[in-house]
Amino acid sequence: MKEIGMSCPNGHGKIVIKKVRKKVAFRGINIIVPIEQYICQVCGVEASTIDQAADIQKAISDAYRKAVNLLTGKEIVDKRKRLKLTQEALAKRMNVGIASIKRWEGGTIQSKSMDHALRIALGGQSVGDSCTGNRPFSIPRIKLVLKEFESILGKHILKKNDKMLFAAKYLWYADMVAHRETGESMTGSTYATFPYGPQLNNYKDLIDDIMKADEAKAEPLSPEEKRIITRIALKFSKERMVYDAAHKEKIWKKQPNGAIIPYPDSAELSGL
Ligand SMILES: [Zn+2]
Repeated sequence: MKEIGMSCPNGHGKIVIKKVRKKVAFRGINIIVPIEQYICQVCGVEASTIDQAADIQKAISDAYRKAVNLLTGKEIVDKRKRLKLTQEALAKRMNVGIASIKRWEGGTIQSKSMDHALRIALGGQSVGDSCTGNRPFSIPRIKLVLKEFESILGKHILKKNDKMLFAAKYLWYADMVAHRETGESMTGSTYATFPYGPQLNNYKDLIDDIMKADEAKAEPLSPEEKRIITRIALKFSKERMVYDAAHKEKIWKKQPNGAIIPYPDSAELSGL
């Protein structure tokens, strides 16, 4: 840290930089943060330069992340460099923007799901599979799965005006249960946490394409997949039931709004 001349505002002359460990309350927990700041030897008054203040913010963020078991900014940088990845290459591997990588390395605290994605990407794998359940995304297959549900339920669930409120939840269960039991999702869809439950990540862009899609172009459902769909349809014979069950799933509830629900969490589904 560069020393600049700083004087005690209480008239004790020049004050010096000291390394101290500070107890800080942050997001409801107490953390110990190692920081550097100017402290007067006589009266104990503390002062920071703008650079020091930024470093303190970063140190608090890292100490917090360490305490709650999230990768710290420094750990993200170290692991990324060990893999010889640029920030851009890591962003690509995670399907996020480079700005996110810069923010997390610089002190912004990542969500739990993004931390999970970071660990996978920094472990050398692509997170694509964790978002798609090991299957390429297919809109005709979404239509095919929903048609299969409709034939068992005996009613339309794919409606244009309800934002797929119920259809998305049948689909989510189908993809998650298939991932848990066959190792592959059915449609390759990515799901995110929305205020009304798990939802196709970019459903607003997809809904028209799903309505128009030709399910005959999709890979046919396997007997195992048909059995899974039947089980879900019989358990949730009314739309309200699938809605309520999805809302009780902790793999959805634990995610912050807008976060991706990773497929490996399918192991913790409780409704089926
Ligand atoms: Zn002083």
